[in-house]
Amino acid sequence: MRVSQLFTKTSKTAPADEVSKNAQLLIRGGYVYKEMAGVYAYLPLGIMVLENIKKIVREEMNAIQSNELIMTALQRQEIWEKTGRWSEEVVDIWFKTKLQDDTVLGLGWSHEEPIVEMLKNFVQSYKDLPISLYQFQTKMRNELRAKSGIMRGREFVMKDMYSFHATAEELETYYNETIDAYKRVYQRLGLGDDTYVTFASGGAFTKFSHEFQTICDAGEDVIYLHREKNIAINEEVIDEAIAELGINRDELEKVKTAEVGNIFNFGSQKTEEMGLQFTNNEGQLSPIYMGSYGIGITRVMGVIAEKFSDDKGLVWPEAIAPAQVYLAPIGTDEAVMLVADELYEVLTAAGIGVLYDDRDERPGAKFADADLLGIPLRVVISSKTVANAQYEVKSRTAAEPEMLDKAALLKRLGL
Ligand code: ATP
Ligand code: MG
Repeated sequence: MRVSQLFTKTSKTAPADEVSKNAQLLIRGGYVYKEMAGVYAYLPLGIMVLENIKKIVREEMNAIQSNELIMTALQRQEIWEKTGRWSEEVVDIWFKTKLQDDTVLGLGWSHEEPIVEMLKNFVQSYKDLPISLYQFQTKMRNELRAKSGIMRGREFVMKDMYSFHATAEELETYYNETIDAYKRVYQRLGLGDDTYVTFASGGAFTKFSHEFQTICDAGEDVIYLHREKNIAINEEVIDEAIAELGINRDELEKVKTAEVGNIFNFGSQKTEEMGLQFTNNEGQLSPIYMGSYGIGITRVMGVIAEKFSDDKGLVWPEAIAPAQVYLAPIGTDEAVMLVADELYEVLTAAGIGVLYDDRDERPGAKFADADLLGIPLRVVISSKTVANAQYEVKSRTAAEPEMLDKAALLKRLGL
C-alpha cells in the first residue's frame, strides 16, 4: 500500500478528550476514528490489523471443528424472555429499538439465546451432534463507562463460539480443547507469556467460568496469581476460589489485567430453559449440553497497542502488523525511486506487506511515521545506499540501523 494513497494522515497529537493510550496512539496513526465515547470506526490500517487478528482466531477455531456463520444484529424479545434476560434488571447493557409497528427488538450484545433458538430448527437426533459454530460480530452494549479506548467499546467486535453436545463429558472434553485453542491464539498474538486462564464468576454447570486475563496496566480487572502453581483467580471470586482450591492467600500476587476472553460451561441449563433437546439412540428425548466461548477481538487490538508501544508509537508484533516493511525512499532522485519501486514490487509479489512511503516528505517525517505506525522493519533507500548497492534496515525495536545487500535483506524477510 502506498502511503500517498492512504486517506488518513498521522498526527502528532491526540484528541484532548481521549484519555487512553491505546486510542491516542491508534487515532494518531490513523488506525481508528473516534465517532463518540466508546464508539470507534476502523480505518484502512486498522482493518488490516483486525483482519490479521481474526485470521489467527479463525484458523484456531476451524482447527477444533467449529464452523463460521453470521447471526443477526437485530434480535427478538420473546427469545430472551425465555431465560429472563430480556429484563434490564438482569442485563443492564441492552440497547433496544423498535420496528415501525412498535414491535420492540434488541441489538445483539450476545447471541447465546438466539443461537439456541435457531438450533431447534436443525437438531433432532443424536446424529446431529456435536455442533460448534462461531462468528465475528459487532456486539452492542450500553456500557456505563467507556474510558479505555477500544478496550471497552459500546460497539465492539467479538468472536463468539457456541458448542452443543449429547453428554456432559463430551462438552467437558470440547471445553478443554477450546482452552488449548485459546492458548494458541494468545501465543500467536504475542500475548502468550502474559495471559492467564483465570477462575472467574459466571459459571452455570461448573462453579466458575474461565477468563483469559492479560497483564496490562490499562486493564480494568484485578487477578491474583499463584505463579508457582500457575493458578490465576479473578478478585471477584477470590474467597470462594481460595476455599475451593485450597491455596494459601499469602502466596498470591495481585496484578492488573484485561479480560481478553471468557468461556462458560452452561451444562444443560440454558438449553432446558429454552427447550432445545435431541432424541438419543434409544429414542428418548434428552437435554443438550452447551458451552459458550468469547474473545474480544477489538479489545485484544487495544491491549496489544497498550503493551507493545513506546514513546515513539506503536510496536506491532509481526503476526498482526498491518505491513511487515515500511519502505522509505529519501528524496525524489530518479535512481532512488527506481530501486524503491523495484523493491516494493518484489516484496509485494512475494506476499510481504509493505507500506511504501512514496510521499515527497522530509526523512525525519517519514521515520517518525514509521515509528508511530509501529511497522516491524524500516527500509531506507537513499542516493548513498543506492551507490553502495545496499539497503538501510532497522527493526522497530533496534536502536541503530544496519546496512544489508539485497540478498541479505530478502533473507531477513524470510525470502
Ligand atoms: P467486561 O467484564 O470487561 O465488561 P464481560 O465479562 O461482560 O466483559 P463477555 O460477555 O465475557 O464480557 O464477552 C466476551 C469478551 O468480549 C470479553 O472477554 C472481552 O474480551 C470482550 N468484551 C466484553 N465487553 C467488551 C466491550 N465493552 N468492549 C470491548 N470488548 C469487550
Ligand atoms: Mg466476561
